[in-house]
Amino acid sequence: MPKAGCIFCKIVCGEAPCARVFEDERTLAFMDIQPLSRGHLLVIPKQHAENLFEISAEDLTAVAMTSHRVAPVLRRVLEPEGLRVIQLNGAAAGQTVFHYHSHL
Ligand code: 5GP
Ligand code: ZN
Repeated sequence: MPKAGCIFCKIVCGEAPCARVFEDERTLAFMDIQPLSRGHLLVIPKQHAENLFEISAEDLTAVAMTSHRVAPVLRRVLEPEGLRVIQLNGAAAGQTVFHYHSHL
């Protein structure tokens, strides 16, 4: 179920736009609207979960698999010297969008 008012649920539903990079049954990868680096993208589960404490093991695995699939494409296209994977849980940790997401 999408969560009312959640921007990433709106993106999943197509109610809000995004620059889509990859999609499968459980996950979506799209460009971050305020990139901190070239190629900054987000991988999210389609099913709303606020954070690591809420996401199902299946969706967490699916997010990891999508990251594993997309990261080599980023590396091939942009040839970065390195790649950070970051995921924040809770406002105190710096999370600002409360729909689980992993930054690449
Ligand atoms: P957090 O600090 O919660 O880990 O990061 C949230 C990220 O979501 C930020 O990097 C921010 O730029 C990105 N973001 C917030 N709203 C939108 C949006 O509507 N579209 C896209 N593509 N990214 C967003
Ligand atoms: Zn959501």
